[in-house]
Amino acid sequence: MAVLVTGGAGYIGSHMVWRMLDQGEDVVVLDRLSTGFDWAVPAEAELILGDIADQALVEETIARRGIDAIIHFAGSIVVPDSVADPLGYYLNNTVKSRALIESAVRCGVPHFIFSSTAAVYGTPETSPVAEGAALQPESPYGTSKLMTEIMLRDAAAAHDLAYTVLRYFNVAGADPGLRTGQSTKGATHLIKVAAEAATGKRAGMDVFGTDYPTPDGTCIRDYIHVSDLADAHAAALARLRAGGASITANCGYGKGYSVLEVIDAVKRVTGRDFEIRLGERRAGDAVSIVADPALAKAEFGWRPRFDDLDTIVSHAVRWEEHLRVANSGKA
Ligand code: UDP
Repeated sequence: MAVLVTGGAGYIGSHMVWRMLDQGEDVVVLDRLSTGFDWAVPAEAELILGDIADQALVEETIARRGIDAIIHFAGSIVVPDSVADPLGYYLNNTVKSRALIESAVRCGVPHFIFSSTAAVYGTPETSPVAEGAALQPESPYGTSKLMTEIMLRDAAAAHDLAYTVLRYFNVAGADPGLRTGQSTKGATHLIKVAAEAATGKRAGMDVFGTDYPTPDGTCIRDYIHVSDLADAHAAALARLRAGGASITANCGYGKGYSVLEVIDAVKRVTGRDFEIRLGERRAGDAVSIVADPALAKAEFGWRPRFDDLDTIVSHAVRWEEHLRVANSGKA
């Protein structure tokens, strides 16, 4: 019995691979390394270089390794890119996921966990937002993930497949042991960008919009530590293996922080100042997105361990320092 992790060479996927190995699972990673790194995959896991839509490869792997669960992270994740290249996003996130789900069904894989996103809610009508809220994605990215959620629902109704869809809020931080972390080049996410500014990798940073209807005028998000997110997947997998029914659950803490509060935390934790340029709004940003995490806690028994902004930030900064030292060694 083994677990297949697609996108296991990427940011969240590589944390999941370590999480599975930590609990003694056999792990197979399928990744084409378009954005991930082979060094992010631990030697204890088998790394297969390939595409999730290569059904011959996937089905041979499922049979050879006795895969009982697929945890599907592989996909494209940059919202503005999805606006520029919607068909590319529908191919990577929807069409290829369809092929993977079909392979799972054909081979009788009983459990499937899918990385979805809070972007399926668009601008939520309520905050915090629960799973039953209206699904109104505002980008091809959000729609591409929602379409896969729908395919899974319908496939599970027709076949012997139980799934868990996890809707991620803003994922940040790094493995506390620094075994892996967010290494994407040209990253755009707030905590990564601020950590790069604090470690001198970039000269200051921009705040996108200061005239939102929030206490300090900047957008509010629910930041979740990547290791807590990996724990949520592990708990979801245990629940499925125990016979749990298909379910869709938010992964966030239920607490929102503004952009300026996050930047203050980075400055406080590092004791370093850096330039902040107060700029225009970025297209497509919702004012406030905060999770109601009650369902994941009740159904999976998920108990976050790093539910603290300063902890998330300090792990992100430590990883940034680690990358800086590693890269200077290579130069
Ligand atoms: N943000 C910012 N400066 C940056 C990166 C992000 O002000 O350099 C803001 C962004 O406009 C949003 C929030 O930080 O309000 C979170 O953005 P991020 O890209 O991290 O995640 P998103 O919520 O868009 O998925």
